[in-house]
Amino acid sequence: MRLRLVGAAAALAIVAAACSGGAATPGPGTPSVVVSYPILGAVVADLVGDRADVTVLMGNGVDPHDWSPSAKDIERVEKADLVVVNGLNLEEGLAKPLEEAEKRGVVVFRATDHVTIRQRAAGEAGGDAEAGGDPHFWVDPLAMRDVVLALEPVLAGVGIDVADRASSLEARLADLDAATRATLAVVPEARRLLVTGHESMGYFADRYGFRLVGAVVPGLTSQGEVAAGQLADLRAAIEAEGVTVIFTEIGTPSAVVEAIGRETGAAVVELPSHTLPADGSYFTFIGQIATAIASALR
Ligand SMILES: [Zn+2]
Repeated sequence: MRLRLVGAAAALAIVAAACSGGAATPGPGTPSVVVSYPILGAVVADLVGDRADVTVLMGNGVDPHDWSPSAKDIERVEKADLVVVNGLNLEEGLAKPLEEAEKRGVVVFRATDHVTIRQRAAGEAGGDAEAGGDPHFWVDPLAMRDVVLALEPVLAGVGIDVADRASSLEARLADLDAATRATLAVVPEARRLLVTGHESMGYFADRYGFRLVGAVVPGLTSQGEVAAGQLADLRAAIEAEGVTVIFTEIGTPSAVVEAIGRETGAAVVELPSHTLPADGSYFTFIGQIATAIASALR
């Protein structure tokens, strides 16, 4: 145990030196938490404060559906005290390294084990081919609160006591939910329709009373194939439902979304659903999504 701690401390120094954008240089014995993607990383960093060193593997602006870990990422996972990932196949390339790390005693926390997984409606694109559920819980602040609630005792288990910070963060996430609801209040019932780049906004739609009409890339990942027949169905749905806005996301093929916009007359609006804003705050992230939707659909 003692040896492992020494090794972890040495690894932290390397990580800190290599990662100029990371947290403050940890002191000796500061526990190391590795998080897979920036949005979840922002919440974990908010939760732990300076009580742990948080390293995020994916760069901000990287499409999480199109990411695979580098050798250095795998090394960071192996040397962490705790690894926090999304789960539900978001980090497919990390599955094996995580299993190996777990065997060696690294604690792995999968956020989607702790939220109510959204069930896709019958007839939605992808259907049974994407069994396992929707990974995009991060667009719902109350699902994120459930994750914080579940993560706090796991952090305590690896020696990071954040009970006080967890209560405060949970309260702020509840406030964020209320603020989001207030921002969206300007959107009339009849216009609460979402067409997005891929099917990323299901948790948001369920939480705030929107309906998913369709997606440019049908399915739960930006990396799905776009078949001509499905695009025809999407155009028909946009016209039938009177959808006026298509929200484009990271990984959405821009030529395709622009063509659909031209053909249907719908405006194309960027939705930053997979990228952290410049200030690195989850609260700003949700605020930007809510504002983008409210301004486009009001
Ligand atoms: Zn996505």
